[in-house]
Amino acid sequence: NLSDKLQRSFKNLRGQGSITDENISDALREIRLALLESDVNLAVVTELVEHIRARAMGSQVATALSPTEQIVKIVHDELVNVLGKDTARFQKSSQPPSVILMAGLQGSGKTTTSGKLAQWLKKAGHRPMLVSVDVYRPAAREQLAIVARSINANLYEGDIKGEPADSRLVERLAREARREAANFGCDMLIVDTAGRNHIDSELMDEMAGLKKLLSPSEILFIADAMTGQDAVNSAKAFNDRLTITGAILTKMDGDARGGAALSIRHVTGAPIKFLGTGEKPDAFEPFHPDRIVSRIMGHGDIATLLERAEERLDRGKAEQFAKKALSGDGFTLEDFRDQLRQIKKMGSMKSILKMLPSVGPFAGMQQAIDNVDEGQFTRVESIINSMTRKERLDHEIINGNRRKRIAKGSGTTVQDVNNLLRQYAQMRKVFKTMGSGGGMKAQQRMMS
Ligand code: GDP
Ligand code: MG
Repeated sequence: NLSDKLQRSFKNLRGQGSITDENISDALREIRLALLESDVNLAVVTELVEHIRARAMGSQVATALSPTEQIVKIVHDELVNVLGKDTARFQKSSQPPSVILMAGLQGSGKTTTSGKLAQWLKKAGHRPMLVSVDVYRPAAREQLAIVARSINANLYEGDIKGEPADSRLVERLAREARREAANFGCDMLIVDTAGRNHIDSELMDEMAGLKKLLSPSEILFIADAMTGQDAVNSAKAFNDRLTITGAILTKMDGDARGGAALSIRHVTGAPIKFLGTGEKPDAFEPFHPDRIVSRIMGHGDIATLLERAEERLDRGKAEQFAKKALSGDGFTLEDFRDQLRQIKKMGSMKSILKMLPSVGPFAGMQQAIDNVDEGQFTRVESIINSMTRKERLDHEIINGNRRKRIAKGSGTTVQDVNNLLRQYAQMRKVFKTMGSGGGMKAQQRMMS
């Protein structure tokens, strides 16, 4: 991936006194290849590499940074430059509701993202209304209805029974939804549209018709980040016809390469506004260019991780836990289960690991991502759930027979139960040592 490649090319520069034409050309070649392999568009790559070269050559005097550090910084800055500084702001129309038109291919995540956006707007103090004009697939309208219910958002359903599914019906629904939103005091109308498997003129005509009818203040292109270069091509096609005002990259929790963000921004000129990082309504975050660049380059994304932790973890509970755990014996299997639940709230293990830097003490963690067994958490939780409260509070009474019963009740094996109890006993020991003043040593033992 891009970060590994960049790290490697930077390594070659290490130990060199200053940046010269020769020692930078290897690094530039690596950077070029790495960017191309991460789905960054060729035109973007060429431009970037030229900028990086020019800045690197000009920067050799008067700097305290080593050549490697200089290039890392230059590459970082240039990538951020391409992505731009804009974040999640929205244009408003003079007369409410401001219309947000969701555009994109089928399966890119329009319906899911419509819900996420509605929830985000609600939290920001707006009153959004949702409408689906995907009249061709009744299931698609039902999908949005379910999402809307789950986040308690306003939805315009409309009565389309018996009507032929065509562009006229699409426009009628859109018009009614806008009127309904205005009557209802909603300041934003999010229009979820039909997608196609590929771009065709029928789809584009329909989108153009909606644009003309609604004069949306935002036309957001929803891109599946997993589809790489294809996403870039369709972004261009949509932009050529509709002039998009922004993009949202979905499925960034998967194995997506960061390159799509760079390319879409460069090819369309429109800012990336949000990232989708999972299927649930709150797996959604404003796009921060410098963060994603850090992630691409392998410096991790500690800022996002911390923010997430702040948001989702219960501070009081964490402190209570620390106090109890450090007292040694107080740390029960129930506390252990609580801890697991807290960690789970932060997102999938994969998404957490991905945000750690791939250098320094965390080197090697990234490789672990492929081996993460998300089911493990659930298994451990169900084992603890299958214990009696008495057992949870006093693990020592869990003898062979009880272990068999617990394994059966949780659909696991006695070995799973044994493993869990062993881990738990180890944790207890470590916490106890930390609590009794052996803090640093115990911490080191936990890290190794
Ligand atoms: P649409 O056809 O453009 O409306 O796409 P949908 O909203 O129906 O999404 C297609 C599939 O992608 C669904 O299974 C969604 O749950 C999934 N999906 C959407 N956004 C994300 C995301 O950010 N992460 C993941 N992992 N899945 C997503
Ligand atoms: Mg849909």
